[in-house]
Amino acid sequence: MCYNNKITKSDEMNNRYEEINSEEQTRIASLLLGLNELYPNAVPALNYENPFQLLVATILSAQCTDKRVNKVTEKLFKKYKGPEDFAVVNQEELEQDIKECGLFRNKSKNIIGTARLLMEKYCGKVPSTLKELVELPGVGRKTGNVVLANAYGKPAFAVDTHVYRLAHRLGLSYKKDVLGVEKDLMKKVPQDLWIKAHHWLIYHGRNVCRARKPMCDMCSLQKWCPEFQDRLND
Ligand code: SF4
Repeated sequence: MCYNNKITKSDEMNNRYEEINSEEQTRIASLLLGLNELYPNAVPALNYENPFQLLVATILSAQCTDKRVNKVTEKLFKKYKGPEDFAVVNQEELEQDIKECGLFRNKSKNIIGTARLLMEKYCGKVPSTLKELVELPGVGRKTGNVVLANAYGKPAFAVDTHVYRLAHRLGLSYKKDVLGVEKDLMKKVPQDLWIKAHHWLIYHGRNVCRARKPMCDMCSLQKWCPEFQDRLND
């Protein structure tokens, strides 16, 4: 009898778990559909024509707006055609060329270091694995994932400040570390949507769910957003 009770309880728990799980899956599916409706044509905001240009533009984008990076790279990529040119430029000259992007000393050092390593180790080609990418100077996990996803179309989920914030507000992750958030997103979002979802979250973070003042009143994701529910209850 005791044994039977246990089975019954366990079945109830399993059913409840499946119910919760499927409610959560429905909520996430609704969120993703909502984001797709809002931003059906979401694309990277940085301008580039090849993996190397995207890599340089992403290094330049640290603590700088994409708009400003695009303004700088428009001239930069005319002056330097590829890693072979960046590898031999004088650092002070490059600093002047990218000054408007801020942090120009570090960024120019990293771009030159990256270009040299690409020439020495990869015949000037940008590698297409995260392990190799993060060995390049100035290239962290986020930049590596941006290149993998957008230049090579490989499934990767780059977590920047917008993606991190939106993942928390939308209840897709509550991890404090970026890698934990990345792993949660990769678990909860279907793999074929990782690249799009990265852009959707960035668009929504910039346009509506801003860091300081999220514009919840005009947000069509309210219904599935735990942050909105919390704010209502405050
Ligand atoms: S409802 Fe508010 S907190 Fe939630 S996603 Fe929209 S803007 Fe952000």
